[in-house]
Amino acid sequence: MMSKQQSLEKTDKYSINGYGGLEAWAALSLTHPKFGQVPGKQFLRSELGLSGIEVSLNSIAPGKGIPFLHAHRQNEELYLFLSGRGQMLLDEDIVEVSAGTAVRVAPPVLRTWRNTGEEPLVCICIQAREGSLQQATSTDGFMGESAPKWPTE
Ligand code: ZN
Repeated sequence: MMSKQQSLEKTDKYSINGYGGLEAWAALSLTHPKFGQVPGKQFLRSELGLSGIEVSLNSIAPGKGIPFLHAHRQNEELYLFLSGRGQMLLDEDIVEVSAGTAVRVAPPVLRTWRNTGEEPLVCICIQAREGSLQQATSTDGFMGESAPKWPTE
């Protein structure tokens, strides 16, 4: 059994990549077809080969916000805030968010978010087709037959 480094690696059994700690996420970026270079954002689906969810890592600098509203046709989203303070605008509602806040947003809701604190506002966004999950946890998961065999040093 080998210990693995965290660089992009795909096998039949798993995909793995390392994105660094939360403070490193500000340096992530993606090229958006409409908005050009978007700092502090990284999608994971195509990189890791996810097939049922899209996930993005997000870090927004103090004083900044997403400069547009967006909604979805089929996908609900979970925003899981990990660090910082901010607000989400959900249609007409403003909600306060900070580390540990989880926000589920229904597809048609127009949404955006901004950093109102003095640290980067960091969140993970997970999207999946609303109503697609037919089973979870104890109805889908099952136990392996043997106990974990971690190598001893
Ligand atoms: Zn979205």
